[in-house]
Amino acid sequence: MSDWKQEVFEKMTKASNAFLGYPLAKDFSYEKFAPFLNICINNVGDPECPSTLTIDSKEIERKCVDFFTEILNGDPKKIWGYITSGGTEGNLYGLYVAREAFPNAIVYYSESTHYSVKKNLHLLKQPNIVIRSQENGEIDYEDLEASLSFRRDRPAIFFLNIGTTMTEAVDKLDKIKALIRKLAIKDFYIHCDAAFLGAIAPFVDNGPKFDFSHGVDSISISGHKFLGSPIPCGVVLVKRSHRDRVAHSVSYVDTLDTTISGSRNGLCPLFIWDFIQEKGIKGLKERAKYSQELARYTEQEMKKIGIPAWRNNEALTVVFPKPSKSIRTKFQLACDESIAHVICVPGITKEQIDELILDLKDDINNHEDEYFPNPYVIT
Ligand SMILES: *Cc1c(COP(=O)(O)O)cnc(C)c1O
Repeated sequence: MSDWKQEVFEKMTKASNAFLGYPLAKDFSYEKFAPFLNICINNVGDPECPSTLTIDSKEIERKCVDFFTEILNGDPKKIWGYITSGGTEGNLYGLYVAREAFPNAIVYYSESTHYSVKKNLHLLKQPNIVIRSQENGEIDYEDLEASLSFRRDRPAIFFLNIGTTMTEAVDKLDKIKALIRKLAIKDFYIHCDAAFLGAIAPFVDNGPKFDFSHGVDSISISGHKFLGSPIPCGVVLVKRSHRDRVAHSVSYVDTLDTTISGSRNGLCPLFIWDFIQEKGIKGLKERAKYSQELARYTEQEMKKIGIPAWRNNEALTVVFPKPSKSIRTKFQLACDESIAHVICVPGITKEQIDELILDLKDDINNHEDEYFPNPYVIT
């Protein structure tokens, strides 16, 4: 490697080893795929329709889609999907097919929703209403009911968070369904943004219930978050009927233009499929369990030194009051107003957590005013 490459590589490696505040797993190694870097792989168009361009990994892409469909209790005959460029594209796709199903619907989503959704709604020009969140980041059902009641003449699109970015809060599908029944809403669509939790929930006991057996219309998951990938990617799954509504044939590449982008990444499906095969369901469960245990440990250790840390259920996200700038920079901690979080993804070690705890202890002694009185109440 020439100097600049070495320099960039070292900088990135250092940053990758140090961060604690983002939901990006790092227990992967894809060096074995190096030979693929000499080929222009392109999964252009629909994963189920071959194109005249055949340098693709669509067969593997379909295996990945079927795997996610099955772990989310869907029937591959009724569910269609593709590997996206990330959770944002999957959410855009869900909202897009929802709009085609119900062009005059209103989209309901909570104020804790990922920042990209506002942009997606703007691109799609969809009327929408932001619903208040509860203290833990979950949607406020009373506020949702009040808003829905005013618009009973319009179809409703529910954009649900299965794990919010900041606190990993889950909007409860059964409560949403109860509201739909109570208000007799006939035309509705349910999209689940499971960017992080979609690759965890199926592998843990008592995970959130949001899959296709519960009647959702679409689910978006990020591939580079809990699974881990050197290139951002994701998977989106939708009921086939929704995909069929937007399918147009294009003669240039002789495939169906059912995806958001044209040329598509064919490398990431290889990574995802390899990871799933190597770990197996058992390995994926162990990984999730290890992360939950590390999160429990992190919460406990913070509480021991007087920090009012908390988690939603068995979340991997430990929320605590925003520490000083030096700690935020050192551990790359994402913050939102008065709170910060550590996300215990695979690849983060107990030693790193212990180092953070030591630094926090110092921080409390030196910046006591930043912690107490604490605006955050433990619930
Ligand atoms: C990260 C995240 C997204 C966006 O996913 P990308 O893969 O970064 O595009 C969407 N929603 C939630 C809840 C997220 O945490």
